[in-house]
Amino acid sequence: MPAPATHPYAALDGERMHDHLSHFVDLALDSRGDGALLWGRLPGSVAALAATEYVHKGFLEYGIEDVELVRFPMKWNLWWPTRLDLTVEGSQGPYTLRSAFAATPSAQTPEGGIKAHLAYVGLGHPADLMGRDLTGRIALVYSVPQPSAFYHSGLTSVRRIAQMTNAAGILMVMDLPGNVVVAGNLGWSAGKIPLMTLGKDDGDYLRELIEAGGLDDPPMIRMVVEGEMRQPAEARNAIGILPGRSDETIVLLAHTDSWFQGATDNASGLAVLMELARHYASMKQEDRPRTLIFAATEGHHAGSPGVSYLVRQRPEFFEKAVLGINLEHVASVGVGVYAGSIVTSNTENPRELSIVGQSPLLKRITYKAVQDNGIVVSMQTSHNYRGDANHLRELPPPGLPLIGLIESPIWYHSTLDDASVVSPQGLTRAARFFAQIIDGVNAHTAAELDEGRKPIPTRGAHPMGERNPSQRMGE
Ligand SMILES: [Zn+2]
Repeated sequence: MPAPATHPYAALDGERMHDHLSHFVDLALDSRGDGALLWGRLPGSVAALAATEYVHKGFLEYGIEDVELVRFPMKWNLWWPTRLDLTVEGSQGPYTLRSAFAATPSAQTPEGGIKAHLAYVGLGHPADLMGRDLTGRIALVYSVPQPSAFYHSGLTSVRRIAQMTNAAGILMVMDLPGNVVVAGNLGWSAGKIPLMTLGKDDGDYLRELIEAGGLDDPPMIRMVVEGEMRQPAEARNAIGILPGRSDETIVLLAHTDSWFQGATDNASGLAVLMELARHYASMKQEDRPRTLIFAATEGHHAGSPGVSYLVRQRPEFFEKAVLGINLEHVASVGVGVYAGSIVTSNTENPRELSIVGQSPLLKRITYKAVQDNGIVVSMQTSHNYRGDANHLRELPPPGLPLIGLIESPIWYHSTLDDASVVSPQGLTRAARFFAQIIDGVNAHTAAELDEGRKPIPTRGAHPMGERNPSQRMGE
């Protein structure tokens, strides 16, 4: 019997990638130790720096000679909650709701907090608010995740409550199983009204108190939201440059920062970045047709200064670039909600595939890599930059063709995004997919890759996507 052929990318090791991922998650968990309410590999934080240093150290260990850790200013201030409290008082209390969190940024409550009766407003549709006088009350509104804190019904209903009522505060229950803490840039739409997020268990508890008390005895709630905009911190990128036979480049990006554990977002992308760096660093320079630039970028959740730094301060990376690769939320396990529980699958969630600046050849290479590696993608391909790569729109024309996989599954920006939601097998598939694209592109000249290329999005331009011509798996 012939020996089984070794997979061309057998060296890309899912277990090693998952170890990296777990390390990035641990850095986020360790950040809780300083007592801050908001934790994770937050932009500008010690934990984000530790993640960058870990990538930097990895690049050195892989034998990459041209390695840098660069520092530059952060773009946005971050709002940090300094004191949060949500407690049921009066006859039904005292009871403190542990999942209550500030929807950053939130308006502050006055000195001493708000003490007010709770009012249930359902999903906050106009029909829920008709004829309701919420003056001086705290509104309890449910938000339907579609499927996560990235997009959810609360985005519009909170704005509606803020504009149409005189509510003193808003509690937004993210309707995910369990008692999940959700954060992120959720608070902008509430304007001057303090807004807290709440897990479903805690939200249901408050709703049941309302039902128990009836119209005459609504629960009395104390809500404290205090926080501050903090001075811009510095951001850091780790950069590794692997020279090839030519000075044409392929630029790979993965952002380091996260809210909470950030396993999918974006320890998954960082792990793949490191493994691809290790893989290509193990080759002789003459076996690498083009120069590869690996960049772990900081501050995606604060205006992507890490990508802007590369675009503005390191134009040489892009002058002869034939391709960019954005590694962002590349492989989390398939997930759904069934009868109130989270169920996971034996493969990954469908991700959105981006083919930016698509030429027929680049599309052929990419769709073949989808098929060959069992990559689950939605059947609609995007031709736009997504996530951290959005800031590549700042590049001068003709811009950079790019391949990316991205998703925002239900654990996005929540305490559910832990190391268990990314599998070694999923990381392996993603790493093989991107390696096959790098090698596929490197088998062709820049002119061949460019032939028939479509325009690349610039600021404000959003090209339409197209239906993914991939066959269904197994066809
Ligand atoms: Zn991300």
